[in-house]
Amino acid sequence: MKQTLVMKFGGTSVADIDRIRKAAEKIKQECGNSLNIAVVVSAMSGVTNQLVDYVDNANNMYDTAEYDAVVSTGEMVTAGLLTLCLHRLGCKARSLMGYDLPLKTTNAHANARITAVNTDMIQECFDNNKIVVIPGFQGTSDVDNRITTLGRGGSDTSAVAIAIALNAIRCDIYTDVNGVYTTDPRIVQKARKIPIIAYEEMLEYASLGAKVLQTRSVELAMAYQMPVQVLSSLDKFIGSQKPGTIVCNEDTNMEQQLVTGVAYSKDEAKISILNLDDTPGVSAKIFGPLADAGINVDMIVQNISSDGKTNLTFTTPKRDLDRAIHVLDKNKEIIQFAGIKTDSEVVKISIIGVGMRSHTGVAAKMFRILADKNINIQVITTSEIKVSVLIASDYTELAVRSLHTGFGLDDNNKIVL
Ligand code: ADP
Ligand code: ASP
Ligand code: MG
Repeated sequence: MKQTLVMKFGGTSVADIDRIRKAAEKIKQECGNSLNIAVVVSAMSGVTNQLVDYVDNANNMYDTAEYDAVVSTGEMVTAGLLTLCLHRLGCKARSLMGYDLPLKTTNAHANARITAVNTDMIQECFDNNKIVVIPGFQGTSDVDNRITTLGRGGSDTSAVAIAIALNAIRCDIYTDVNGVYTTDPRIVQKARKIPIIAYEEMLEYASLGAKVLQTRSVELAMAYQMPVQVLSSLDKFIGSQKPGTIVCNEDTNMEQQLVTGVAYSKDEAKISILNLDDTPGVSAKIFGPLADAGINVDMIVQNISSDGKTNLTFTTPKRDLDRAIHVLDKNKEIIQFAGIKTDSEVVKISIIGVGMRSHTGVAAKMFRILADKNINIQVITTSEIKVSVLIASDYTELAVRSLHTGFGLDDNNKIVL
């Protein structure tokens, strides 16, 4: 029986017809390796942003089901165009939309979760030696069959889910960098490519801001042990010839670095609630209503109280800031505070590494490196394998570069002009 490979092409990899043709050539090459191929595509670079803008302009208090009806279309265009390019190369291929399969999701429009992938139509195409091309990012609601989308960057998750449903040998994610790096290679030129990375570390990377893979795609891959490979669509190799970064189980052969990499997220806003009563139950009064409103809270710090009063600071995603303030103001009588201060000019910088589990002093070293550059730390959080700090966003590049160098991650063989 033929094995199956899933190939996913992100926005820059299908940015125009020329790039789409190049993607088609790569797919044709992989087909030559006697594999069944399912391709998952993103919208052409910039298209989803444009569609979101249209929706905002039409009605910024939009109905999320209609938002999905609009923003899901970008991927469908690419799926059709790529299929046409494959035909031109003499390949048998057809596009299959999310509703054709169907790929079922929850009813949470704009941020739906995949619940089931029906592979019957894909199998039928494979039986007829056809390549299938599927738009990522979309599915249909398991409540009313309307089109849903999976949250920004969701095509990665579509690809991994389809690979799992097809019991594929691997899910290759083609993007504009040739792997996962020790930090964003666009910020640190001396960033090093990581040849192989554990799911757990990749999960931290993704959730702490490295957008190279959507967090949920890594969660899914880890839960079902699906190997994922990140590689470049811009170089001439295909995934079966030359490895990019392999994301898989932690393995004794992996290089055991103390710190594997540095991530940053600019999607943070800081909220400080001033002059709160320092009494039992006050945190529940704050975070209960925020949770009820679906607002994610990330870092939290409470000051030492004086005279029974205290300040509490936490972060939320930038897009939730206004709603969070609204919720707090609405509950002011119950929570009892003097005022609120907000700051959107902040960035969360994190160091990540499974090696931290068995070493001490990593956080202290991080704080020292930042102090030496005169960078003030506003909030700190830690887990077993990461340390995150919140700092002023003006210092993003300086902090990322200094930590990258300080933890010995620079590739000193790279010449930086
Ligand atoms: P696609 O459109 O293919 O989905 P994305 O823009 O979502 O691509 O993700 C690729 C980008 O992720 C790269 O261009 C790079 O700037 C960024 N990135 C951030 N952190 C990292 C990292 N640690 N390793 C590789 N790329 C990273
Ligand atoms: N096109 C969608 C986005 O830009 C999904 C994706 O590319 O993964 O968010
Ligand atoms: Mg992406």
